[in-house]
Amino acid sequence: MDLNIDETIALVGQLGEPRFRAAQIHKWVHQKGVRRFDEMTDLSLGLREKLQSAAVPGSLEIAARQESKDGTAKYLFRLSDGESVESVFLPHDYGNSVCVSTQVGCRMGCRFCASTMGGLVRNLTPGEIYAQVTGIQNDTGKRISSIVIMGSGEPMDNLDHVLKFITMVTADTGLHIGARHITLSTCGVVPGIRKLAAFDLQITLSVSLHAPNDRMRDTMMPVNRKYPVRELMKACREYTSITNRRVTFEYALIQGVNDSAGQAEELVRLLRGMLCHVNLIPLNRVQEREYRQSGRERVQKFREVLERAGIPVTVRREKGADIDAACGQLRRRAARGQVT
Ligand code: SAH
Repeated sequence: MDLNIDETIALVGQLGEPRFRAAQIHKWVHQKGVRRFDEMTDLSLGLREKLQSAAVPGSLEIAARQESKDGTAKYLFRLSDGESVESVFLPHDYGNSVCVSTQVGCRMGCRFCASTMGGLVRNLTPGEIYAQVTGIQNDTGKRISSIVIMGSGEPMDNLDHVLKFITMVTADTGLHIGARHITLSTCGVVPGIRKLAAFDLQITLSVSLHAPNDRMRDTMMPVNRKYPVRELMKACREYTSITNRRVTFEYALIQGVNDSAGQAEELVRLLRGMLCHVNLIPLNRVQEREYRQSGRERVQKFREVLERAGIPVTVRREKGADIDAACGQLRRRAARGQVT
């Protein structure tokens, strides 16, 4: 699953097989997501045996699955080295989406997020990111038409693998998902934003802002000490001017921390004149963290301030919160008491 079509052609060549075999194999792996070579029924038995000793298909094993009342489903995937990651299936009126993880754990240390609590264990390979999508597509039997790179991990901290994944999944030899149907979310790693901008992809960049100034953001997100708000906003403007894509800003509302009308006004000043969209997320509960979700009225008030200033804003529904599948609730392993 880590191999793109050219690398699959090279592998097939090494095995002394004709080139057209590469397309067949690639299709089994990247479109059908099969887990074993002996399921590749249009290959000769001899070739299947050769492949068996030369490679592994790379699909992931589903270790657990939980379904929410709202149709959201959370998957725990077991990786080949025994580590695991969580991914989420999100059915929408306009199609089905998968939220993929890019790392086992995370080293960014955001104070409100569960994914970062044990630190970073390792990066996922491009194929391990890809296999979350095919794994969920096969398990649900529903076509996946969009992807959000918003699971555990910081995509900019594993950008080369994430880019390879995006290239493979958008290709017509892959799932052929349009770049416009892919969203990548970052906590604000500025060099990563610049590097991504240079590729000029049509994907949506989503930035986890959560605070309108350095004073507040420093206390919530350690990454801000390295890349402060001004620099982050500059990189976002550059991203828009290169790609012509509007940037989405994520803002999780935390009771008494970042949710006042004054802070909403500060946010308005920060975003004025930018081609952007704000996603307000009432904070999802993470058991070990002391932060609380803002009340309905505070959320409404915050939203009104942005709306009055003409900033496009939506309040995101907390999908899957009853099974800890919502933003910031994904972990390395299933919490105790979950079905496995
Ligand atoms: N590392 C990337 C992607 C993973 S986090 C990033 O930071 O963007 C996905 C989104 O969930 C981010 O916007 C993150 O800030 C948000 N998030 C984390 N913990 C949350 C929580 N407890 N409630 C609501 N959103 C949260």
